[in-house]
Amino acid sequence: MKRTMRILLLAAGLAPLTTTLPGGVPCCELRYTLEAHPSTGAIDVTLTVHGYRGEALVLERPSQRPLVGLLTQDPEIEGVRHARWDLADGAPRWTYDRPAQGWGDPIQITYRLPITAERPLNAWSVGLDRHLLYAPAEALFLLPVMPSQTAQHAPVRVEWRLPSEWRLVTGWPGGSSFYGTRTLVKTDILAGEIGLSEIHACGIAIELGIAGEWGFAPEDVAQDIGAIACAARRRLGAPPVSRLAVMMAPARFPVTSGNRNGPRAVGFIHWNDGGPPTARLLAHEIVHLWQQFDAPAWFQEGVNDYLALRIAHEAGLVGDEALAEQLAEIDRAYRQNPQRERWTFAEEQLAAKPFGTSDGYLAYRKGALVGLSLDRELRLRTAGRVDLAALWREMNSRTSWGHVRWTDEEIARRAAALVDGGMESFFGGYVEGTEEVPRPGILLADMPPLPPPAADRGRLGTVAAFLQATFD
Ligand SMILES: [Zn+2]
Repeated sequence: MKRTMRILLLAAGLAPLTTTLPGGVPCCELRYTLEAHPSTGAIDVTLTVHGYRGEALVLERPSQRPLVGLLTQDPEIEGVRHARWDLADGAPRWTYDRPAQGWGDPIQITYRLPITAERPLNAWSVGLDRHLLYAPAEALFLLPVMPSQTAQHAPVRVEWRLPSEWRLVTGWPGGSSFYGTRTLVKTDILAGEIGLSEIHACGIAIELGIAGEWGFAPEDVAQDIGAIACAARRRLGAPPVSRLAVMMAPARFPVTSGNRNGPRAVGFIHWNDGGPPTARLLAHEIVHLWQQFDAPAWFQEGVNDYLALRIAHEAGLVGDEALAEQLAEIDRAYRQNPQRERWTFAEEQLAAKPFGTSDGYLAYRKGALVGLSLDRELRLRTAGRVDLAALWREMNSRTSWGHVRWTDEEIARRAAALVDGGMESFFGGYVEGTEEVPRPGILLADMPPLPPPAADRGRLGTVAAFLQATFD
């Protein structure tokens, strides 16, 4: 009896630290301390893992993207000597065997990230100098590999040691501390001598962090983002988050690049040419926030690009003429693509070189034109009752049932269901085939009117809303 009690008490004592899943690795609480050294361009990271009980400890930097920020030495674990190093899906991975005496508690891991770039080169680079630090979180945080459900529930704490005059934008609701590993991986970090401002637009608080000196007023960018967010909300329904961090940092050469990283962070690396990033680029990243699903690249990026332009137009930031011009520019890149008649989207995905500029990919440019054609097709068939935004809302609402990854076939079926069938030749020709998409001028010429805005007319039925509430 006494023994049982003791075990129960012990279990109760451990409960806040340990998440144990049947058959899984019990794990753990993660604490990161990051110390930035602006003069040498290095970041020292100490990761403290509490409650680890697994066999080997495997650390990885989980990202599909090439991230600058070299690790010149293996991470070190106190009292543990050997690391095996390999690559898993292109991401580096270090494996440490459990020492003979078992794991200590906590386990302390240290590593140093010397960052070579003086300034970020593109949206996925890491940069540290005397004035700023910019990084996607997955460049900084090595993570112990654990079962995905455990990983999502592992408490994570982060502490920054930054120069005292520096400020920090993370996109995390609690600033620098938060709960949940998945959240940890998905954000951007901007710190330094940055300007901070906040605006509120249609129920969303937008925190703007800007590094560098610019030839335009940063508040104007915030205003534009607010206008886009309101237009997106009218078309696509309530936003998935109520707070949003938008970051902007200077590029070293003429390039502008945007990214959305996780549910709450949008970053722009922008060449200082006197003007802000274009409304189209701002809208592209903002519309990604309303994309609560994964889809093939032609939809995820291309259709997004068209819808973003449409929303920037509806927000009053892109006029009729500019809209036609932008679409014509997209069309030019599509027609100049040498693979246009050979590759379907799926073939391009397999055969094309990754990480080029978006002009070079059918998924982006032809995808945008397919988005325009699809919007027109849906509106034509329903006399303007159903549009692309309606399909988008449907795709978002299904994430409440856990349907997150859409295939071409599923998108085609959903679109057909909205217009009572007959979308086979559209998807067969433009999406699964290489049929030439008509020029945007022709598509725009007989475009039926837009349906009235869908603003908050209730995306979910009562049952779905209840389900969502209980899963939150
Ligand atoms: Zn994108």
